[in-house]
Amino acid sequence: MNSLSEETKKSNKKTLLKGMLRGELRDFFLSIGEKEYRADQAFNWMYNYRVENFSEMLNMSKELRVKLNDIALLNTLSLREKQVSAIDGAVKLLLETSGGNLIESVILPEKTRVTLCVSTQVGCPLDCKFCATGLMGYKRNLSSGEIFDQYALAQRLYDRPITNIVFMGMGEPLLNFEQTVKTLMIFADELNKGISHKKITVSTAGIPHKIIDLADTGLKSKLAFSLHSCFEEEREVIMPINKKYSLKENLEAIEYFARKTDTWITFEYVMLRGINDREKDIKALTKLCRRIKSKVNIIPFNSLEHMNPEGISAELIPTSREKIEKFADKLRENNISVFLRNTQGEDIDAACGQLAIKY
Ligand code: SAH
Repeated sequence: MNSLSEETKKSNKKTLLKGMLRGELRDFFLSIGEKEYRADQAFNWMYNYRVENFSEMLNMSKELRVKLNDIALLNTLSLREKQVSAIDGAVKLLLETSGGNLIESVILPEKTRVTLCVSTQVGCPLDCKFCATGLMGYKRNLSSGEIFDQYALAQRLYDRPITNIVFMGMGEPLLNFEQTVKTLMIFADELNKGISHKKITVSTAGIPHKIIDLADTGLKSKLAFSLHSCFEEEREVIMPINKKYSLKENLEAIEYFARKTDTWITFEYVMLRGINDREKDIKALTKLCRRIKSKVNIIPFNSLEHMNPEGISAELIPTSREKIEKFADKLRENNISVFLRNTQGEDIDAACGQLAIKY
């Protein structure tokens, strides 16, 4: 056996600390004969200072730092490529997991805030017809350490503080419920000094029982629902998951979430010509928004042409800018809160739904 595979074997046996909750860290330190308070120290170094090496954990003895280096792991991802949009400064990070899988995160700077879009899975099993990630299929769930590390890496590479996180990258967060919630709980820990979990939005295509579970965690993270159509049969065509979990069931779960967490829901709505940009869509959307405390996030559809899609995906056309603005105005006239999102990072394929890797 050569030395490299020896090393891999050894590193496979190490315990990954990044992604652990404080209670789990406590159990870990007790199990190696250390005091409980080490958990708080490790939490601080990993999640507040976001150090990359155990040697930087300066309030631990040298001996302990060496021991940790031998038995535990800190980092989960490495940077493969960084692209910066010349148009709007959006930054796309191509990241590699320790097993060689590739995922993407995107930093979206605005005047008053910087939003980071993170992935929760490698690929996605949902196959939404307008989304590039769906076209690449599904590989596996990301761990809480890997989700957190996207933030740690992005913040290290970016000079302004990240102020918000959206779980809108690759994957369906609610199909990776445990690791998603664990990540939110790290940000909700009383020791956390960075972004509050209230500044994190989990976006879902709609897994009703998991929406209810998320509400029941007691966390105050926000929920975005990828609506895209208010009509069951039509939504089914562009989002096959709607066959399994209907809009009706989802809206009931969302109402529960809104009531329980006392937060506003965001309805995401990608504008598709002739599919969801008609007069009757405005009516249905208005009715829905009157029922649930919410705002609508209107999103210009980013073409999937670079992916050479087949079937329905190949037929999707963006609604014109002029028509999108009229659509938004009409909703506003109906007293609906509308946010017209600009496409960001178009030149680097970092815009929504474009997070598919050209292997
Ligand atoms: N699975 C989750 C998280 C993925 S983010 C979910 O479905 O919500 C999904 C969001 O990305 C969609 O709501 C939409 O806002 C956006 N999106 C996906 N494909 C897009 C495309 N081609 N153009 C514009 N936005 C897209």
